[in-house]
Amino acid sequence: MIELSLTEFCLLMLIAAFVLVGLFGWVSRFSHWNEERRGRRVRMVCDLCLEVWQDRGREKIRACPGCGRNCERKS
Ligand SMILES: [Zn+2]
Repeated sequence: MIELSLTEFCLLMLIAAFVLVGLFGWVSRFSHWNEERRGRRVRMVCDLCLEVWQDRGREKIRACPGCGRNCERKS
């Protein structure tokens, strides 16, 4: 068993807390970035009439449901 003084124990807990907060922040940011990327791939906006719709297909160019203009997928 490792002997720890109270000061060492507190310092260790403080460092562990900082590491946990950093790790949580990193995971949260990564998941947010992933969600944003997925949304951008599905969401399409017409440049002409600004109609927004969701398209889960793989085609690069889709016709706008509002005005019929061919719109290119951004990402
Ligand atoms: Zn349109």
